[in-house]
Amino acid sequence: RCGYVAIVGRPNVGKSTLLNHILGQKLSITSRRPQTTRHQVLGIKTEESVQTIYVDTPGMHKEQKKAINRYMNRAATSALTGVDAIVFVVDRLKWTHEDQLVLDKLKHAPCPVILAINKVDRIEDKAKMMPYLQELAEKYDFKAIMPISAQQGNNLKELETMIEGMM
Ligand code: GDP
Ligand code: MG
Repeated sequence: RCGYVAIVGRPNVGKSTLLNHILGQKLSITSRRPQTTRHQVLGIKTEESVQTIYVDTPGMHKEQKKAINRYMNRAATSALTGVDAIVFVVDRLKWTHEDQLVLDKLKHAPCPVILAINKVDRIEDKAKMMPYLQELAEKYDFKAIMPISAQQGNNLKELETMIEGMM
């Protein structure tokens, strides 16, 4: 089995950190500064029965004035063509306007979308997650909604298993 997975989301939510953790190597540059990933970065994970090609994307933004931002939006959008699964990464408990713009783009994607709520290692009161999960579930028919920590590795095995099941 073999498949293509796009990792999308607004800048700075942890897309590149997620890719690096899944691959077990520092392939994609991560940074506190937004807009570090400016091109598509491909990572290939080969296991016994399944090979998965991950595409890390530049964050999508609303700012369309600067040429570099338009270029990054195009690179992020074109990464969605022909993928088998999309991992949409958001940051903890706040849904932003830019998250909504990303979701609007994903609604045209002809494949399932897994929503990954990243940086849950920073959430002190885990009870706060429940109403937020409910709110997110109403936004779109996600294949799954998974709280993860790309940095600490929480739930990443479960995420990978789900992705591989979609190949
Ligand atoms: P990208 O722009 O979406 O690719 O985001 P990056 O992967 O470059 O990460 C942006 C910042 O968030 C970096 O400072 C990361 O170290 C940090 N970060 C990423 N994932 C996590 C996480 O699971 N927990 C915490 N606490 N920080 C994270
Ligand atoms: Mg990045």
